Amino acid sequence: MKLRKFTAVTAVALTLTLSVTACSKKKDDNSGSGGSKKITIGIKFDQPGLGLKEPDGSFSGFDVDVATYIAKQLGYSTKDIEWKETPSADRENALARGDVDYIVASYSITPEREQKVDFAGPYALVHQDLLVRKDEKITKGTDLNGKKLCSVTGSTSAQNVKDEIAPKAQLKNYGTYSECLDGVLSGAVDALTTDDSILAGYAAQDNYKGKVKLAGLKLSNENYGVGIKKGATKLKGQINDALEKMVSDGSWEKAVKANFGPANYKYEPAPKIGHIVK
Ligand code: GLU
Repeated sequence: MKLRKFTAVTAVALTLTLSVTACSKKKDDNSGSGGSKKITIGIKFDQPGLGLKEPDGSFSGFDVDVATYIAKQLGYSTKDIEWKETPSADRENALARGDVDYIVASYSITPEREQKVDFAGPYALVHQDLLVRKDEKITKGTDLNGKKLCSVTGSTSAQNVKDEIAPKAQLKNYGTYSECLDGVLSGAVDALTTDDSILAGYAAQDNYKGKVKLAGLKLSNENYGVGIKKGATKLKGQINDALEKMVSDGSWEKAVKANFGPANYKYEPAPKIGHIVK
């Protein structure tokens, strides 16, 4: 009798535990998106031609088009995308924290970064260059020694200056390239260095046209990859498939023309997946 009572109580307790578990599981499945699926993508918000938040709140640029194409292949429509700003210095951390599903933000594939994150791609090859005021006489990397040079914290551009291009330049690292650009215009710095794809986008803006110019130097090879969390092998394969399709169906060419055409940027042909130009 005593034993039977104990069994009944245990059974009730067990049932309760099971139903609570079932309830919380159900809640977890729906959390965050109210049931509809969303994908969060990291981009730049201040790089015209690559990743730009427009005054009306929409997003434009080659990185945005690549990111949107990938999302579509993964089964997400444009309205399922949540765009998140990922500044250069925050990209590895944003992936590690799980803030974003992937990053398409002028993000060069490097061995150092590959210690912390994985990359799909590459999907573009660009080169480091300088942007200076129209009247400036800087024509080569070594002209920068002793000059005030601006770049962005956590970028390969800043690292390359210190390591090779002009170790004696007075390097100032800001948070974004648009802050550097303001510095060039105000005279606070003499030059801005980063990828020519980014600089061409700035130089083509109405408010900067005729005031700044690119030096036209190919100071490095930057292979743009899609950043993903370390070990996300399945996602890497899916993104690589999407990128291959984007090239073969002509969407890649269409996107480079639409985004780099206005800046007259002479882009390189589409790179092969897994092929890094050193
Ligand atoms: N592509 C370079 C990098 O990943 C410079 C551009 C950027 O900072 O986003 O560091």
